[in-house]
Amino acid sequence: MKPLPPGGHTLPPLPYPTDALEPVLDAKTVEIHHNRHHKKYVEDLNATELALVKAREEKDWHIISYLEELLAFTGSGHILHSVYWTNMTRPGTGGQPGKHTLSYLDWYYGGLTPFLAQFSAVAGKIQGSGWAILGFQPAWCRLELLQCEKNQNCVLQGTIPLLVCDVWEHAYYLQYQNDRAGYISRWWELVNWPDVEARFLQATRGKLPLEMGAGG
Ligand code: MN
Repeated sequence: MKPLPPGGHTLPPLPYPTDALEPVLDAKTVEIHHNRHHKKYVEDLNATELALVKAREEKDWHIISYLEELLAFTGSGHILHSVYWTNMTRPGTGGQPGKHTLSYLDWYYGGLTPFLAQFSAVAGKIQGSGWAILGFQPAWCRLELLQCEKNQNCVLQGTIPLLVCDVWEHAYYLQYQNDRAGYISRWWELVNWPDVEARFLQATRGKLPLEMGAGG
């Protein structure tokens, strides 16, 4: 683990070819989304961080509020897109929720089906651009479903994203036009459940919520 220097972010490569998610997401949608939209977040995040370095050097705080907002917006956009790409895989090959994910979803949501229904409702009802996020909240030792507006608003502080669905129009509009619900319902075919399980284990550092609960 090495700290990233200011302006040192890079666009992570897609973990699959751009046509791998077809027919749910076509190659053009994935290519533009990754290589233009996500890339722009990385570029803008780097520029923002370098502008903050300059502001510190010059002790010039007149646009500090603007830069801090940009940091939250572009940084969160970069982080969420990086999770989004690895959360997906070829349609129908992502398997089922892992043992720990499933036991948690059973305990908290009453099963996979009610969880999927709530997540889809959250994603469908975001006003404007945003993300549905299933994340681990370390302070409460719980998973939480969040309805994130833009990339950074309406989130619970400190929540570590495990499964995220991008509902900005650029994620689906070429193919689904205004049918966001159609995109979301097909999106489940892409979910890479082993990636979600691995992120859950990493976020909890091996101290899984239900096992902790069982131990008192
Ligand atoms: Mn996006």
